[in-house]
Order: sequence, then C-alpha cells, then structure tokens
Amino acid sequence: MSHAHLQPDIAIIGGGIAGLWLLNRLRNQGYSAVLFEHKALGSDQTVASQGMIHGGIKYALGGSLSGGSEAIADMPDRWRACLRGEGEVDLRAVNVLSESFYLWSEGGLVSRMSSFFASKALRGRVDKINPGEGPAVFRDPAFSGQLYRLVDLVLDAPSLVATLADNHRDAIFHIDWQQAALESREGSAQIRLPNCTVQPRQLLLTAGAGNEALLQQLGEDSPAMQRRPLQQVLVKHQYNESLYAHCTGTNPSPRLTVSSHRTEAGEPVWYLGGDLATEGTDDAPEVLIAKARQELQALFHWVDFGDSEWTTIRLDRAEPKQKGLLKPDQAFVGGSKNNSNLLTAWPTKLTLCPDLGDQVVKQLSDLQPGPAPDLSLLAPLGKPPIAPPPWEVLF
Ligand SMILES: Cc1cc2nc3c(=O)[nH]c(=O)nc-3n(C[C@H](O)[C@H](O)[C@H](O)COP(=O)(O)OP(=O)(O)OC[C@H]3O[C@@H](n4cnc5c(N)ncnc54)[C@H](O)[C@@H]3O)c2cc1C
Repeated sequence: MSHAHLQPDIAIIGGGIAGLWLLNRLRNQGYSAVLFEHKALGSDQTVASQGMIHGGIKYALGGSLSGGSEAIADMPDRWRACLRGEGEVDLRAVNVLSESFYLWSEGGLVSRMSSFFASKALRGRVDKINPGEGPAVFRDPAFSGQLYRLVDLVLDAPSLVATLADNHRDAIFHIDWQQAALESREGSAQIRLPNCTVQPRQLLLTAGAGNEALLQQLGEDSPAMQRRPLQQVLVKHQYNESLYAHCTGTNPSPRLTVSSHRTEAGEPVWYLGGDLATEGTDDAPEVLIAKARQELQALFHWVDFGDSEWTTIRLDRAEPKQKGLLKPDQAFVGGSKNNSNLLTAWPTKLTLCPDLGDQVVKQLSDLQPGPAPDLSLLAPLGKPPIAPPPWEVLF
C-alpha cells in the first residue's frame, strides 16, 4: 500500500491553552485543523497557572498606566463573552472560580495607591472596597489595609482545558515522537507518521517550552525563545475561605499573589505566586516554604489555617526572547526563514489568548478553508489525557 498523505488546512503541535484555543478558534472559522499533543493536554504551564484573566491593572502597580496596560485591558470582556457563549470560542462549560480579583496593600503604600486608583485612567476598572466588605479574610476587624476590586476574573484552568478539548475532541491526537518525525520538505514543514504523512497548508507550533526543540528539528534558529523560571508555593490547610488577590508591596510587581483551589478530596489549597515565586526560584524548597510561612503569618496574623502541609513546584514560563524587560501586553506569533508554512506562537499569558487568536487569523488571511480531510487515518494514534493540576498531584 502506498504511503498516504493527509492535507488539513492547519496542523497544531502542542495542546496547552495556546494550541487548544487556536484549534477552537480556527475550526469555528471553517478551517480543517488537527492538534497533536505528546503528553497530556494542558501540561507544563497551563494547568499549573493561577487562572487569572486580567486586564493589566497589576502591571500598573508602579503607579502609572502604560500603553501596554491599555492594550491588554479589553481581554476580560473578550473572555466573558466566550463564557456566555457569545465569543469566538465556546467556554460555557468552564468553571469560573471568581468573578473578581482583589488587590490589597498595607501601611506605607496606602496614600500613593489610593490617589492612583482614584485616577481617571482607572475609573470603572478598580473599585475601592469598604471595611467589612470583600473576601471573608479581609472582613476581619484585624485587617487594617486598603482593599480594591479589579475587573479581572479567575478560571479553573483544568476545566478550561477540558472544555476546549471536549469542543473538538475528534481533531485531537496523541503523538509519540519515537514513531513520528517532524521534517522539512521543499521549504514546507510536515509530520511523518507510521501510516501517513500530514502535510498541512499551515503548521502552528504551540508547544510552550517545547517550541525550541521543534524549531531546531525543522532547521530553524528563529523565533528565539526564553524561559523565565519561578517556584510557586502550595499550602493545603483547613481554612475554608477562598482568596483571589494580589498583595502590593514596594515593588511594581505584586509581593504575593494568592489563588484558591481544592484537592480531589475537597481540601482547600492556597497557591502562592508573585514576587515570592519569582524571587524564590533558586531557593531550596524548605527555604522558600519558611519564607512563605512568614509571609502568611505577617499578612494574615488573625487567620487560623489549622494543620498545614506545604510543597513547592518549579516551572518555566516560555516566551519569545526579549531584549530587556518583557512587555506582557501582547501574544507573540512569528514566522521562520526556511519553512514557508510555519508559524510559532507563545501567548505569554493565558489572558492573551484572544489576542493570540486575532494575530493568527490575521496571518492566515490568504488561506481559504479547503475540503475537510478524512481523519480516520489518525485514529490509531489515540487521544491524550488531560493533565492533573499541581494541587492534585503534589499532596
Ligand atoms: C505558575 C504560573 C502561573 C501562571 N498564572 C497565570 C495567570 O494567572 N494568568 C495568565 O494569564 N497567565 C498565567 N501564567 C502564564 C500561562 O500559564 C502561560 O502563558 C500559558 O499557559 C502558556 O500556554 P502554552 O499553551 O503556550 O504552553 P503550555 O501550557 O506549556 O503547553 C504546551 C503544551 O505543548 C505540549 N508539548 C510540548 N512539547 C511538545 C512536543 N514536542 N510535541 C507535542 N506536544 C508538545 C506540552 O505537553 C503542553 O501540553 C502562569 C504561568 C505559570 C508558570
């Protein structure tokens, strides 16, 4: 039997949020698209993220609103439309953990923060919360800081992955690179499988940190990638109230970011990021855990967390290489030199997926949807599972 060829409009490699979002967006636009994942969907960064969909206010903590913060500002509304079933991808089945994200400050920063947050630029995007209101942990009279509500929302990342995967499960396949090869033929990238070769009109690399090796296999040295590591702290405890909030300190970035999750058995876990995680990257886990304990004690001295169990997870954020500081306001989509059908994408933030989708659609404006290929040839590959989040694996 001769080796078969499959020619979908689009093939996507990597099933994190970027690949799954694009699969949904492009199939909804009428393209035939297939996605290949080598481990589990949402692995690496996506299910380990804190799930915040934010409008960039946290980047304005330095005290002024930059152009970047303005560009990211309409992302929460784009996601909310998708959650209502009125956007470019259908997210109606996603579990929303919180409709709001909070920001609090203590002591010396109060006056600078209040005048900045009262400024015209932020009107309608930040509300001051009165004492005794807001999340349970701040309703205690012992809390003496300032509290604000942002327009941001928080999604349960595993349910986001599951929803996007369920919408188009027929087009998602497991790929085992021991049995498959990514290759460049006559200036086009293609995927060789045991029983057929996939020759997409457009190949999208959305493999997060995996993009670097995939590009090398195709003989490409650009776009270049960078990894920004961090070490998050997880604490499982008996305090039953959720919290989704940034604490601002003296840095322009949040001193601490807290999101709340549950283990499979329903036990509360607080997931701690922010400066604690970025500055603690190289700490031994026990050193970082000691810092995190002190931080919770200092910030929530009135809270009884009961017995607590601690752990950490070290992760790399994969992004396009930047000179100097990363501008976190836009997703990245870039072409390469040797393969004319190749695009590489890094969303750089979960939040920026709608922007990622816009950019890819723009780049594909010359590609008209072709006939849908018969995907039964891919059935022997099987389906990848969905990755469990760190709070289910680490305790
Ligand atoms: C701790 C942490 C917290 C974060 N919190 C937030 C937040 O609250 N809000 C926000 O907006 N952003 C957040 N981010 C950033 C956000 O998580 C990432 O920008 C986003 O998840 C990146 O998605 P991705 O699909 O590009 O990559 P990934 O999620 O890393 O997915 C890559 C996928 O490709 C697969 N893959 C890799 N190599 C191959 C290969 N060779 N073949 C096939 N498949 C492959 C992987 O298995 C994986 O499934 C956070 C990041 C971290 C690390």
